[in-house]
Amino acid sequence: MISSKHRPTMIQIDLEAIRNNVRQLAAQLPEKTKVWAVVKANAYGHGAVAVAKSLVDHVYGFCLSNLDEAIELRQAGIEAQLLVLGVVPLEALDLARRFKIQVTVGSLDWLSQAVSLGKDLSGLALHVKVDTGMGRIGFRQLNEINQAIALMQDQGMIFEGVFTHFATADEADGSYVEQQLTRFQELLNGLIEQPKMVHASNSAATIWHKETIFSAVRLGDAIYGLNPSGRNLEMPYQLCQALSLTSELVHVKQLAAGCSVGYGATYQAAADEWIGTIPIGYADGLTRDMQGFSVLVDGQRCEVVGRVSMDQVTLRLPQPYPLGTKVTLIGQNQDEVISVQDWADYRKTINYEVVCLLSDRIPRSYD
Ligand SMILES: *Cc1c(COP(=O)(O)O)cnc(C)c1O
Repeated sequence: MISSKHRPTMIQIDLEAIRNNVRQLAAQLPEKTKVWAVVKANAYGHGAVAVAKSLVDHVYGFCLSNLDEAIELRQAGIEAQLLVLGVVPLEALDLARRFKIQVTVGSLDWLSQAVSLGKDLSGLALHVKVDTGMGRIGFRQLNEINQAIALMQDQGMIFEGVFTHFATADEADGSYVEQQLTRFQELLNGLIEQPKMVHASNSAATIWHKETIFSAVRLGDAIYGLNPSGRNLEMPYQLCQALSLTSELVHVKQLAAGCSVGYGATYQAAADEWIGTIPIGYADGLTRDMQGFSVLVDGQRCEVVGRVSMDQVTLRLPQPYPLGTKVTLIGQNQDEVISVQDWADYRKTINYEVVCLLSDRIPRSYD
């Protein structure tokens, strides 16, 4: 998708905030723990190439969800370790090998099929994913893991890592994390060979379950300054939200009492009201359920009135503001702040989804 530059709607990313967040998280880790920065899904909407470039000297490597995301970083000149967390299609494995991208083995079946294609996979580095309770990809049986290790060795592949993923690390009750950890430990103890690295902790496990930390951690949400638990658990230290989203008033008019606004004519001005329009809509990730949310104009909260359109939304303004007046949808405007979490709360979802859904149509700028 082409990003819309001739439109005053933009996302500002504070790369220094991301670097500081990584530094702060890393400072709490046992010495020598490696940090994978998770930059899948365009770095949770923050821009994968820019974020990765700004972190190359601060982390061990980057996790992506698919091969194309990893190749994007390689082609941008990033030489750090790259790991694809999802299942790579067998026919794309030579690409992974060519670009020196590490991949996940999610099952013995997948590995056997890869081998039976007869391609040269020597030197390809693999991480064995163990399903200790997520129920998605990953091995559940020790004997299958050991068969996979033997097969990799036989084929000249590199047994680089073993990892698992927690389902409830962002919740107050730690019992399921404990169960998963016990299972993981049992499987690790039975391996016929130890890999170069073992990793289990996402942001939440790293922050609230230090007992899950092995030789590396995989940090996503928290490096962007978001609380992975939403408002469930308190952060032990302050991180800084890196993303802000702004637009400008492109139209301001007074509507007489009783006049309607937007599709469905769902809103009627209660009195003579100033209505401003900003050029952003559900095609940008400001979804229709944001009707009624408030954004910031001149340090004041102004309600989104009427339906959210594809490319425009309308605000009730306390007074007529000039065209070009800045509107802050996420971030600080004078003394007021709107957080990604505020959007998530309003939409009854998680902060992850809010940032991931901000469309590529919105240009990202970096400082
Ligand atoms: C996305 C992902 C992470 C990062 O999770 P956060 O909660 O964003 O830190 C870590 N591991 C795996 C397997 C993932 O898919």
